[in-house]
Amino acid sequence: MTTTADQPAVLVTRHPATGADAASYPVAAPADVRAAVEAARGAGEWWRSIGWKRRRAHLSALRLAMVREVDTLAGIIRAETGKPFDDAVLEIMLAVEHLDWAARNARAVLRPRKVRTGLLAINQTAILEYAPFGVVGVIGPWNYPLYTPMGSISYALAAGNAVVFKPSEYTPGVGRWLADTWAKLLPAQPVLQVVTGFGETGAALCEAGVDKIAFTGSTATGKRVMAACARTLTPVVIEAGGKDALIVAADADLDAAAKAAIFGGMGNSGQTCAGVERVFVVDTVYDDFVSRVTTLAARVRPGDGEGDHYGPITMPAQVDIIRSHISDALGRGGRALVGGLDAVNAPFVAPVVLVDVPADSLAAREETFGPTLVIDKVADLDEAVRRANDSRFGLAASVFTRNRRSGLDVARRLRTGAASVNSVLGFASIPALPFGGVGDSGFGRIHGADGLREFSRPKAITSVRFASPVDLMTLERSPKAVPSALRIFRLRHGRR
Ligand code: NDP
Repeated sequence: MTTTADQPAVLVTRHPATGADAASYPVAAPADVRAAVEAARGAGEWWRSIGWKRRRAHLSALRLAMVREVDTLAGIIRAETGKPFDDAVLEIMLAVEHLDWAARNARAVLRPRKVRTGLLAINQTAILEYAPFGVVGVIGPWNYPLYTPMGSISYALAAGNAVVFKPSEYTPGVGRWLADTWAKLLPAQPVLQVVTGFGETGAALCEAGVDKIAFTGSTATGKRVMAACARTLTPVVIEAGGKDALIVAADADLDAAAKAAIFGGMGNSGQTCAGVERVFVVDTVYDDFVSRVTTLAARVRPGDGEGDHYGPITMPAQVDIIRSHISDALGRGGRALVGGLDAVNAPFVAPVVLVDVPADSLAAREETFGPTLVIDKVADLDEAVRRANDSRFGLAASVFTRNRRSGLDVARRLRTGAASVNSVLGFASIPALPFGGVGDSGFGRIHGADGLREFSRPKAITSVRFASPVDLMTLERSPKAVPSALRIFRLRHGRR
């Protein structure tokens, strides 16, 4: 990634596998970002005014464009991230499902509804409404450059907001495609815009007068975003990193668990916020499980060619982090059963399976974001849950067991925003489920009904229907008013 000396500044993306220049994009300065937010403000008012049905129709047009141009869009994702074409297509399919769900369900979730008034306000009608914020700023990462930001963008748009999107400097093309496609569909209304640039452009978006920021990225940047938003009391939703655990019970289908560990740990080169990084296996099946994982891992091939299982590490600086985690683990008594330091051949990293890694080492505690698994032996499921929960992150986790009840019990005890029984990332393709983290993985929820509400302000409206027989809300109330109300109150609450 480079800037040129020319004005205006540009950022140049590179093919992660080859390092060749791919495309260039303008770097939006703070004034450009403010102008985008200003334009979004007017468009947002129009967007809000047209109602659920017309919004749904426009979002449907965007969805159809994504389907129609799936090859183009997948090509952009592949060029910017290096991931295999089929993985890019899968990412688009997931994003489309979410956009469709958000558009179809926004009205049902957010439409005004009457709620019970209760005894003290029996003469009133109470209405709960969900109003859009206005303009939502979305800041996205590069690992799933469409699916992840669309988890905010789709729900924010469906809830009636305009969106200004700042994609990662590594994947601006996906954002550009979205904004250009919107501009073709609705040229007069910049309801969805993109501002490209580096971290400074993201920082400028936090300061540009948006009504909410939806941030997805690392915990460290999330804290900076929160600090910036604190100055103007701008609300934020933070989707940050993870160190997800997979638990293998004694009665688990070990083939299924091993396959899931490999997919969850190595898929997308391990660059998945809710990917598997730690595995806790009950000791009676530990050896058997480890042998299955190592056999599968040895077959996994990174590369840029047809049929390779995953691509390069997208962000060059991440390679050093992955290397440091492997090196720290090995230096402190860990053993690599597959790969090792020689697995790191930038920009590719081959699968690495580590065992006997001290619990306080980097590979066991920090987000590696590479194709590595740390496998650990535990006495039972209680210890597995304790170890899994011993993390400052809490995004997702999974458990493999043939006992459904025990699986659900473990899922409930995991300190995470999501948990899957007998699958990994089971929630990603279910738009009705909320997604978000605990602790350093962030807070707030995207996706599902909670995701729609995340981008809305609940508004309470009351309307007097008739004069109250006992009016308590006046300074001129009669001396009998409170005693009469108290009699009814006692009848209502005295016996419960
Ligand atoms: P970063 O935190 O580095 O960047 C995220 C975004 O923030 C980028 O667009 C970045 O711009 C921007 N940014 C950087 N500095 C600032 C700033 N001061 N103010 C505002 N915005 C800023 O994360 P990555 O892009 O490296 O993404 C990987 C991380 O994202 C991992 O930790 C991963 O776990 C997490 N993630 C979480 C997900 C979730 O849903 N919980 C999903 C996917 C990823 P630029 O790139 O130009 O620097």
